[in-house]
Amino acid sequence: MDAGRAAVPAGHHVPADLPARIQHYIDGRLVDSADGDTFDVLDPVTNATYLRAAAGKRADVDAAVSAARRAFEEGPWPRMVARERSRVLHRIADLVESRDARLAELESFDSGLPITQALGQARRAAENFRFFADLVVAQADDTFKVPGRQLNYVNRKPIGVAGLITPWNTPFMLESWKLGPALATGNTVVLKPAEFTPLSASLWAGIFEEAGLPAGVFNLVNGLGEEAGDALVKHPDVPLISFTGESSTGQLIFGNAAPHLKGLSMELGGKSPAVVFADADLEAAIDATIFGVFSLNGERCTAGSRILVERPVYDEFVRRYAEQAARVVVGYPHDPRTEVGALVHPEHYDKVMRYVEIGKAEARLVAGGGRPDGFDTGNFVAPTVFADVPPSARIFQEEIFGPVVAITPFDTDAEALALANGTRYGLAAYVWTNDLVRAHTFSQAVEAGMVWLNSNNVRDLRTPFGGVKASGLGHEGGYRSIDFYTHQQAVHVTLGGAHNPTFGKGGTG
Ligand code: NAD
Repeated sequence: MDAGRAAVPAGHHVPADLPARIQHYIDGRLVDSADGDTFDVLDPVTNATYLRAAAGKRADVDAAVSAARRAFEEGPWPRMVARERSRVLHRIADLVESRDARLAELESFDSGLPITQALGQARRAAENFRFFADLVVAQADDTFKVPGRQLNYVNRKPIGVAGLITPWNTPFMLESWKLGPALATGNTVVLKPAEFTPLSASLWAGIFEEAGLPAGVFNLVNGLGEEAGDALVKHPDVPLISFTGESSTGQLIFGNAAPHLKGLSMELGGKSPAVVFADADLEAAIDATIFGVFSLNGERCTAGSRILVERPVYDEFVRRYAEQAARVVVGYPHDPRTEVGALVHPEHYDKVMRYVEIGKAEARLVAGGGRPDGFDTGNFVAPTVFADVPPSARIFQEEIFGPVVAITPFDTDAEALALANGTRYGLAAYVWTNDLVRAHTFSQAVEAGMVWLNSNNVRDLRTPFGGVKASGLGHEGGYRSIDFYTHQQAVHVTLGGAHNPTFGKGGTG
């Protein structure tokens, strides 16, 4: 169905001046695919095709990597001192900030995210650039004085062409989380954004040009994962890949990158537990765990999608949680009252709905369970709550990535820990208790890259971000991102005149 022919429901906002097509951006120019191929991009509220994007293949990736490589080997960007690059990054942040309303409007339309949350993500993208702009300037490289008039120092060098592959959930913000540190450290990049949501990524080129980023430093190739993404991963001139997406895709990329021994950063899926002990502030725990799984439409890698509740407060928790979930406002993405919008794509909607049906056979449905009233078309799912979910259930074990939550009771701390650790994932964990010792004892033992104690997803950009087990490989955030995007070359120098003794002259080895 084409946008022109689709009925736009009253209350649904279609942004003015939408482009009719999206191209690649290679070597400072907007270009179509070499073979002219395109793919459809859908409006998640109507599922009508509203534009066509260039479908990149190996030839387009080759062109983008060549441009990025030339910019790396011959251009000014990697050779600038950090302060000069930092100035450009600050200009990028200013430009993102000054366009935050338009960015949020486009992102919300393209991905189905509620507009208020899309606006927060746009501002966060600006913040990511500011943060890495400051970090590279603040970083003190290591210098060591060594006995025998020796000096050792560490030379941080950009690595080359970074391949950045990103998912469709909060796409612009997640792209900024990779672009910021990759560019701040002097690399050149090829970005392959998710095919469901290419709209906001098409704004980067204009922003970067206006900020003064030299041509060839940033390149964008749109396309399908198994075509454009695959070609980028397998390209011999791309020494590192930063990937965010599903664990199964991560496994594939790991194998495809192996012949080239590429540097890999992998931020993958999750099925994070929120553990509520009986002594917790129940009001706060319910409020935070509602937000933790239903914000961003539940399409959030760190969603607390399994809630484990201590038996004495279990029934009360389930009752109050279901009541509150039923009050979460599902609506059109652009409506500022909307708390849960439309899921990104009909394929993803079908997947989430399949899990809802599976859940009905596995556990007790206490809220939602289908389309919300008043939304007969589009990718809308009512916030759905299952209680008494056994740990063997698929809805307990598998990432659903939508507004669906599983609640399970426990009796002892040991049982809570076994349940929390009882999936293949290990991204985040949330713990609700007023017992300090229990909180920290549990945090030490839980298999999660990040733990929030009586807190919900608030993090300083300096802290590490990443998961264990099937949730990821390596950490991003603060200096960890800088480490990923740089070589640390050690230089050992003799300071002046005296030559160190060698064989037969008193040298000790
Ligand atoms: P996905 O794995 O389907 O796709 C992610 C990206 O990889 C897309 O750009 C896609 O085109 C590309 N891709 C797909 N197959 C490829 C291949 N064979 N080679 C190279 N690239 C390929 O993931 P998605 O559905 O877009 O995103 C949702 C997933 O991302 C969820 O599992 C979610 O938990 C995860 N995620 C993780 C984090 C984190 O920080 N851990 C953050 C956001 C999302």
